[in-house]
Amino acid sequence: MTGIEEASLERAPLEWDTPLFHTAVSQFEQALPYADVDEHVAERLRYPERAVVVSVPVHLDDGSLRVFPAYRVQHSNVLGPTKGGIRYDAHVTLGECAALAMWMTWKCALLRLPYGGAKGGVRCTPRELSESELERLTRRYTSEMMPVIGPQEDVPAPDMATDEKTMAWMMDTYSMQKGYAVPEVVTGKPISIGGSVFRAEATGVGVVMVIERACQRLGRPLEGATCVVQGFGKVGGVAAQDLVARGATVVAVSDLSGAAYREEGLDVEALLDWSHNQHRPLIERDDCNHVTNEEMLELPCDILVLAALEEQLTAENAPRIKARMVAEGANGPTTLGADSILAERGIPVLPDILTNAGGVTVSYFEWVQDLGRLFWSRDEIRARLGEKMADAFDRVWELSESRGLTLRRAALVVGIREVAEALSARGIFP
Ligand code: NAD
Repeated sequence: MTGIEEASLERAPLEWDTPLFHTAVSQFEQALPYADVDEHVAERLRYPERAVVVSVPVHLDDGSLRVFPAYRVQHSNVLGPTKGGIRYDAHVTLGECAALAMWMTWKCALLRLPYGGAKGGVRCTPRELSESELERLTRRYTSEMMPVIGPQEDVPAPDMATDEKTMAWMMDTYSMQKGYAVPEVVTGKPISIGGSVFRAEATGVGVVMVIERACQRLGRPLEGATCVVQGFGKVGGVAAQDLVARGATVVAVSDLSGAAYREEGLDVEALLDWSHNQHRPLIERDDCNHVTNEEMLELPCDILVLAALEEQLTAENAPRIKARMVAEGANGPTTLGADSILAERGIPVLPDILTNAGGVTVSYFEWVQDLGRLFWSRDEIRARLGEKMADAFDRVWELSESRGLTLRRAALVVGIREVAEALSARGIFP
């Protein structure tokens, strides 16, 4: 029994102790036997380094005042500043941020980015807030977090319901308090204030880079492969477009309204225009068939890309999945139960911490460009992203083959090893 656990038993449970945090810790425990980690180092990594709770008062447009709970959790700063998104969501908790922060640590380490993991959020219903209310919320949240964020401390990015506008407000608030422009305090900013070209496409393109490499290793050509893409937003939309560019056939895509399906292949460009430019639901297209989101997950295809939200493949539907490969563009779309069923059925799952890491990798490039005040071209960024994704993929694939691990377990082990080695070298202070 460890000190921090004993303390929690004597008093109340620890503040971040939630089911999602338990899932993150269980995955860590399951990976540990393969990671050769010193027990003291492992014990340190079971806990977030810092968890901050603040309350954010906001004057609403109707003159009333509301106070929103808000969080920032930093899991590990062993390798460098912590890095992770800020989400605006009605269900965000300290435990959710702690779990996501831990996953960010493994993801950054797997990609060999000099970062640890963090995650933050404000508990609110963003669609019920006007733009000016969101701006006041963001600016006050940033002010409350001033003591713990910074280019060398903790670098936020967009996540659920936050975007480049949110990052512009954060960058401006931080810069106003410092007295000079500090673009490197956040990533995912507009290009006009130090954002990076190619950041918007990076996650979706990275997903396809990983799929392409997996197809090569498995000896299955991507050209001509049939693909189903759940979620047609920033990640799924770009992934679908890039799959088509590489000669694959996208037979189904979905948004919240349902799925558009055409066995001979969809016109992805037309659907992107419909969905992203005209903001219309896919269900209203009359030139394709429609199935529900649940049904589309079970369509026969070569590659199923999950790019919507968490917990989509479960122990309940995993036995009926007909895809020959699953790629996780979203975070946590496959439950632990579904994972073991898919493994038993021999369906490879390309895990989120590898597959969707293109976003944080180009965020890292954005931070480096901001710090150096020197900006790279689109082609240069795409090439560097390709190198990083291929290198991480190969390390995961080789460990998976040599130790007989699933790709998810191998990805976690590779990430954990990087952090543990650094912590062992540095030692635990004092
Ligand atoms: P987004 O909001 O742009 O798109 C989400 C898409 O999923 C939308 O098309 C939405 O209609 C659809 N959707 C929502 N609920 C659905 C449901 N129940 N069934 C089917 N579709 C549904 O978000 P995004 O940025 O594309 O993120 C998608 C996922 O990828 C999230 O899990 C996010 O955490 C993860 N991710 C995103 C990035 C990034 O750079 N944007 C990076 C890493 C991971």
